Amino acid sequence: MDYQIIPVTSFAQNCSLIWCPVTLQAAVVDPGGDAEKIRAAVAESGVNVTQILLTHGHLDHVGAATDLATFYGVPVVGPHRADAFWLDSLSVQSQLFGLSDCTPVQPDRWLEEGDTVQLGETTLEILHCPGHTPGHIVFFDRTDRLLVSGDVIFNGGVGRTDFPQGSHTDLIAAIKHKLLPLGDNVTFLPGHGPMSTLGRERISNPFLQ
Ligand SMILES: [Zn+2]
Ligand SMILES: [Zn+2]
Repeated sequence: MDYQIIPVTSFAQNCSLIWCPVTLQAAVVDPGGDAEKIRAAVAESGVNVTQILLTHGHLDHVGAATDLATFYGVPVVGPHRADAFWLDSLSVQSQLFGLSDCTPVQPDRWLEEGDTVQLGETTLEILHCPGHTPGHIVFFDRTDRLLVSGDVIFNGGVGRTDFPQGSHTDLIAAIKHKLLPLGDNVTFLPGHGPMSTLGRERISNPFLQ
């Protein structure tokens, strides 16, 4: 699949636009905010948005999900049902972060380990990687060795786990037992910061040594 990163919100969140190069069917992954900026990037790219995908229920990843789903007339897919309590608390999250009230998000489909999401001719495999949040999932394109990893693993870091139902032990276990086995040559697109590969993080990420 092809991709483009669209930085959004004051949290410098990586919203990503991913698409099948054959059919130009596209998904907006983790639209945390700045719906107008995302719409402009989509229009510029000429792809056809068919779904909104969510890795987890944090405000900075889902803030514009409902607006965009309504605008394009497409479903919201993911995260795992265990993040329902995060999505239910979006209005509290916006107050905590001093942001204007966020439109509620109700996914049309929850995702689980082993599920797949079809994007034109691209198949995305779902892995459930709890720890940062209990319902965090990631999207893996096995053919092109590309992973959309949300806030599980970063270039040189891992996700925070000091939130309700966060678990550093679960997070490291998910990275070591689910992500690293995908292979050193997998490039990942994280929720914040620059891209990296699983091979580079396996060797140099201080949290994985
Ligand atoms: Zn997060
Ligand atoms: Zn985040």
